[in-house]
Amino acid sequence: MNAELSQLHQQISRCRMCPLAQSRNLTVPGSGPQPSRLLLVGEAPGREEDRKGLPFVGRAGKILDEALGLAGLAREEVFITSVIKCRPPQNRKPTKAEIDLCRPYLQHQIEFIGPRIICLMGNTASLALLGRQGIASLRGRIWQDRFLVTYHPAAVLRNRNLMNEFVSDLRLAGAAAELNG
Ligand code: URA
Repeated sequence: MNAELSQLHQQISRCRMCPLAQSRNLTVPGSGPQPSRLLLVGEAPGREEDRKGLPFVGRAGKILDEALGLAGLAREEVFITSVIKCRPPQNRKPTKAEIDLCRPYLQHQIEFIGPRIICLMGNTASLALLGRQGIASLRGRIWQDRFLVTYHPAAVLRNRNLMNEFVSDLRLAGAAAELNG
């Protein structure tokens, strides 16, 4: 990780711009190689992530790892983050105000990581970066030559029937990013 990105992550760890700073344990800026051809964006840290300071280390993370493997990708070769960097109490959805305050961190991460493809996992990520939601109609293709929308791993956890489509979206993302193509 270069100095710019690690400075940004330090800045995130000190962030007190919204009330989530009071309830969080650790900030979860994200992890992965830099630069990285593929960036995966989730919604917000959950309980395990808040404890460890790392993205997708709970049950949704297991599903994500499994799907990445089936798509011919490894966690070590992608950068993983979420729209907001602090856990909302009771894992509620992030508010628009929280997303708007946190978005510049994500935008700077994108600048420093330089991904060819950004995989938006779930409606929160899709709305925050593409300005659109509705996974069923948005998934499976590349938007604006850069964004691929797919399910959030937690949705796949609730409905395993989504796994095949999730894997095929990740495979497409990997191919478009020239990781597994
Ligand atoms: N869900 C997310 O969106 N991000 C995480 O880091 C964990 C669960």
